[in-house]
Amino acid sequence: MALLSIKDLQVAYGEVTALHDVSLEVDEGELVAILGANGAGKTTLLRCISGLLRPRSGEIRLKGESIANLPVHEIVRRGLTHVPEGRGLMAELTVMENLRLGMYLKGPRRLQSELARVLELFPVLRERAGQPAGMLSGGEQQMLAIARSLVAQPSLLMVDELSLGLAPKITSDLMKLLSRIHEEGVTVVMVEQNAHQALKYATRVYVLANGRTALSGTARELADDPKMLNAYLGKD
Ligand code: ATP
Repeated sequence: MALLSIKDLQVAYGEVTALHDVSLEVDEGELVAILGANGAGKTTLLRCISGLLRPRSGEIRLKGESIANLPVHEIVRRGLTHVPEGRGLMAELTVMENLRLGMYLKGPRRLQSELARVLELFPVLRERAGQPAGMLSGGEQQMLAIARSLVAQPSLLMVDELSLGLAPKITSDLMKLLSRIHEEGVTVVMVEQNAHQALKYATRVYVLANGRTALSGTARELADDPKMLNAYLGKD
């Protein structure tokens, strides 16, 4: 059974249909990239999966159970967390306070061991623990947003536009960290504009165009056919 299964998902903003019949599956242990040009519907898809938007129709199943109408905190409790586009940090709260927000659904006993594990992965956050999140660099803020999602111990982590506003070297370092998180057993879905970086680490890829799944395949298949990929990404 797929870890995440989406069938015929339709989402609209008033009269504007943003997703038309999108279907996709993510198996446990995969790192799936969702690519697409601006406005293709990638962010809408993630917001709908994590319960921030309600679909007009279609199914969203996590471990076989429907989550389409559950509140966000219940979806998090079932093991799905979301690093939103723009990171969604509390700028005035400290790094540690932001991390504690990610842990509010877990008991205090879990807290210390999870925190230690995440701070080992992102040592810079330990150094900056008492600073307001808004004082961190863009790359550090993205680390904090990922760390906050990880302390909730997800089985599925969704990351929207890891590379947004970051220099190529920082993006590349963060991609490596995400890949390590994946190797340590977390299934990952990432939305990316940066197809080149995403194809390096993804196992499988879906390409959205105008709210539909235009193309899917293994990262190897898509990397071998850049013309096809670029056509859907709106590049030459
Ligand atoms: P980007 O990379 O620019 O974030 P995207 O692939 O994530 O693009 P979405 O943000 O999901 O795309 O947008 C999909 C479509 O839905 C677009 O046509 C967009 O204009 C529209 N849309 C997104 N958010 C809203 C909203 N709050 N109200 C109305 N229309 C919206």
